[in-house]
Amino acid sequence: MSDRSTSEKSTSEKSTSGPRALGQFAGRVAVITGGARGQGRSHAVELARQGADIAVVDRCADLGTVTYPLATPEDLAETARLVEAEGRRCVTATGDVRDLDATLAFVDGVVEELGSVDILIANAGVSTLGSIFELDAAGWSETVDTNLTGVFNAMRAVAPHMRRARWGRIIGISSMMGRSANPLIPAYCASKWGVIGLTKSVAHEMAHCGVTANVIAPGNISTDMLHNEMLYRLMRPDVAEPTREDVAPVMASLHVQPVPWLEPDEVSAAVVFLCSEGARHITGSVIDVDAGASARFTA
Ligand code: NAD
Repeated sequence: MSDRSTSEKSTSEKSTSGPRALGQFAGRVAVITGGARGQGRSHAVELARQGADIAVVDRCADLGTVTYPLATPEDLAETARLVEAEGRRCVTATGDVRDLDATLAFVDGVVEELGSVDILIANAGVSTLGSIFELDAAGWSETVDTNLTGVFNAMRAVAPHMRRARWGRIIGISSMMGRSANPLIPAYCASKWGVIGLTKSVAHEMAHCGVTANVIAPGNISTDMLHNEMLYRLMRPDVAEPTREDVAPVMASLHVQPVPWLEPDEVSAAVVFLCSEGARHITGSVIDVDAGASARFTA
């Protein structure tokens, strides 16, 4: 990972010796992948608000087959600023979750700087379209390597530290597309189904270490991944330049409740719950935050 930086003056202090944190996650350190913007940023700020120090890694550069812009270094700096505004420390790095060695080094560095890694939100992801008749090797692998291998890499990196501490909370971010089948988006669907299988396996393996591993499957969430030309054109092929208003009814039809999209902080509420002491015996589960979409497809 490159361009690593730590906010707040006392980077060598353990979180417990820094400014005193209040809140249920005081003394905890949360690693969030893809946290430069969107849902990851919301999780970072909410966990910081409740006392955790934060470490964020994000690619902060566009990716070949992804047709909407990914986050920027300025976005990452803004996440750090918001975390600091909550009085917590924030380690940031630009880096790609597809790189296992770099992810291992990032997490080891976080433990050195902040004292531990207690929470992982494996959130980095990309959304790509491509029919089975058209998808090429790059389109398949950039999506699956980010959304599934990247989640594995992050879990692989934190697991030894959490096992040693005998406490941990791991959350893999899937999607309602990881609970259902959809045309024209096979790589994304496959990667998000995979996150569920991976996370359940990790839950099983770490059940004796005081570590829980769960999945959150969001519906349509109001971020740059949703509000972009590629998705708007998919939703409204009948409109030359579809607007937010044009796509809203189509987006709402994917949910059961009559809302086109939810806000990132509605997903953060589920993150906070799964990280809480009250959720210590919830592991291997999938929580759907999808305005009822799951009512159509799961038992
Ligand atoms: P987003 O595009 O705003 O955030 C994704 C972040 O991941 C970006 O900051 C991006 O730069 C980063 N990223 C992408 N590839 C990376 C890589 N290889 N290495 C490191 N960082 C990388 O979108 P979001 O909605 O905040 O997405 C967060 C998660 O939620 C994703 O896993 C996404 O698939 C999932 N999700 C989103 C929606 C939605 O409607 N927005 C719905 C269901 C699930």
